[in-house]
Amino acid sequence: MPDAGAPPTRCMHLDMDTFFVSVERLMDPSLNGRPVIVGGTPYQRGVVAGCSREARQYGVHSAMPLRLAYERCPQAVFLHPNFAHYAEYSERVAELLEDSAPVLEKASIDEFYLDISGCGRILGEEGAWGSKLKRGIMGELQLPLTYGIARNKLVAKVATTVGKKHGDLRVPGGEEAPFLAPHPVRIMPGVGEVMERDLLAMGMPRIGSIAALPLQLFSNMFGKHGRTLHEHAHGIDNTPVLPYRRQKSLGAEHTYLEDVLDPRTMIATLKQLAQRVGHDLRERGFLTRTVTLKLRYADFVTATKTLHCDYTSADHVLYRLAERLFRALYTRRVRIRLLGISTSDLIEDYGQLFLFDEEEEKFDGLYAGLDDIRRRFGKGAITYGSVLEQRQEEWKKRRSSAAA
Ligand SMILES: [Mg+2]
Repeated sequence: MPDAGAPPTRCMHLDMDTFFVSVERLMDPSLNGRPVIVGGTPYQRGVVAGCSREARQYGVHSAMPLRLAYERCPQAVFLHPNFAHYAEYSERVAELLEDSAPVLEKASIDEFYLDISGCGRILGEEGAWGSKLKRGIMGELQLPLTYGIARNKLVAKVATTVGKKHGDLRVPGGEEAPFLAPHPVRIMPGVGEVMERDLLAMGMPRIGSIAALPLQLFSNMFGKHGRTLHEHAHGIDNTPVLPYRRQKSLGAEHTYLEDVLDPRTMIATLKQLAQRVGHDLRERGFLTRTVTLKLRYADFVTATKTLHCDYTSADHVLYRLAERLFRALYTRRVRIRLLGISTSDLIEDYGQLFLFDEEEEKFDGLYAGLDDIRRRFGKGAITYGSVLEQRQEEWKKRRSSAAA
C-alpha cells in the first residue's frame, strides 16, 4: 500500500479529453462532431478556455485570444464557460477515482494522479485494471479520458500526453529514459516556451539529447531548474502523490456576550458573518450553493434552516440568503444567544482564472480589492457601518463588565 508522502513506485495519470467541451456535449448532444470553442463570444476580450478536436484542426488552442480563434474557425460554436458545471463533473470523476485506488491527487479540474504502488495483487494486471477504470468512468459519466501508467508522476503524465494521439500507455519500470528520449522537449512538464527556445538553440530538440549531456551544462544555463530538467530527462521524479482533501463546508458563528433582543443588532451580525464566510470562500477558492443559518435562543433552543442558490462566493448574495433565512427562523420573542452562517456543497472556483461576465467581473474586482485589504490589515479592517456600531456596542459592554 502506498505510504502518504513517499514517492510512488507505480503511478497513474489521467487527463479528461477536451473536458469543458465534453461536459457541454453531455448537456447538448447537438454539439457532437462540431467544432466547439468554450470561452465566450468571438468579439469578447478573453481567451479560449477549451476547444474540441474539430476546432483544434483549424489551429485553435487553449489560452488563445477568442478573436484569433474566430479568425481561424469562424464556423465554430462559441460558448460561455460554465465553470460550476465543469467543477461538479470534476468532483464526480474524483469520487469514482477515489474508490479505485488508495491515494488520489486532484492536479487540476480535469487531471488526476493515482498512487498504485504495491497494489498489484489487489488491482490485478495493470493494463486490464486501467482500461476497466476508464470504461467505468465512460459508462458512469460519458466523459472520455486518456491515462498513462509509469513509475512516477512525471513519466505517467508524459505517457498520457503521448497517449492522447496513440492510445493509453504504460511504461514498464526501468524503461523511463528510453521512453522519453525520442519525444520533443516541450512535452515535459516544466518546459515552457522560453526554455524550449533555449534548448532548440542549443541543438536539443528531443529529451534524449538532454539526458545524453552532463548535468553541469544545464545547471549553468538554468540554475536549479537545470538540475530538475536533467533528472526529468532521465525519467527521475520523486514527487509524492498528494492526497486530495475535500472541503465539505465552511462557516462562521458569533456568540453574543450578552443575549440580544434587538433585530438590528442581529442583522448587523449577519452582515459581518456573511462577509467573513464570503472572504474565506474566496480565499480558499470555493463556491457554494447551500447556505444554512443557525440561530440559538437564550434558552438554548436552536433552529436551523437552509436555502439554495446558484454557485457563489459573494458577500452580498450570502447575506441576502442569510437575511431571508433569519426572517423565516426568528419566530420567538426570545433573546438570541448565537447566530451562525455555514455554507456547504462547495466546489472549487476555477472561474477566478477566467473573467468573462462583465457584471461578475465588476464584483470580482470589488471583492478582490476588499480581500486584499483584509489580508494586509486583518479581517476586521473593512465592514459595513452598522457592523462597526454593533462592534463598538459590544466593546463598551466588554469594558464595563471588565470594570465591574
Ligand atoms: Mg484535459
